[in-house]
Amino acid sequence: MRAVIFDVDGVIVDVRESYHLAIKRTAETFLGREVPLDLIRRIKFSKAINNDWDVTYKVIRTLGGEADYDLLVERFTEIYNKLKFKEVQILSKDLFLDLRSAGIPLGIVTGRPKEDLRFVLERFGLEDLFDVTVDEDDVVDKNLRKPHPFPLHLCIEILGVDSAIYVGDNSADLDMVRTYRKIYGKPVKFVHFKRVVDLDLPADFSTDSEEELRTYLLQEASRSREGERVYPP
Ligand SMILES: [Mg+2]
Repeated sequence: MRAVIFDVDGVIVDVRESYHLAIKRTAETFLGREVPLDLIRRIKFSKAINNDWDVTYKVIRTLGGEADYDLLVERFTEIYNKLKFKEVQILSKDLFLDLRSAGIPLGIVTGRPKEDLRFVLERFGLEDLFDVTVDEDDVVDKNLRKPHPFPLHLCIEILGVDSAIYVGDNSADLDMVRTYRKIYGKPVKFVHFKRVVDLDLPADFSTDSEEELRTYLLQEASRSREGERVYPP
């Protein structure tokens, strides 16, 4: 059985007005001057930094500033909590319902803290659609967090599937899938959903259309089941 596992930010929800702005405003309180959003996105996406607290820290250091990490997290959280209502849903509930109706196990692997994940899923009525969710708080060791493939491994093992498709939006997602294949070995395809950030990434499938994504996922997940019947273990 092949599962479909989703990234959240940039895939299920547009965070340009929340997390990206929270990085900018937090960095600005430490630097005392304006930080262009372009620079933030360049640092986040070119360096494949998944955790937005780490991105904020990197932005501050890149611009010659300094910050206490715990204080940074505190300020970031305050600012994000004011901006989180600006998040816009990207993928519709219908897509997830269609995949569930086809019997496809669904998961989430995200760098969001648990509280932020619960917030976004409840806000858009998506909280009952995923069989397994793995967030940043589920992985205690910071070195094993996304883009390390451990969270993906955890999700796949709890789902109890022997292959999966991961839908992500940036190079941290691609890195995670690639390293997963090397370390854990189960076949995992990478789908690049590029609605929000138009990056050029090698992927098994790329699209910015929900309709194309639905067709591909339904097809690939059932192809895997046919394969199992043709080649019994
Ligand atoms: Mg993302």
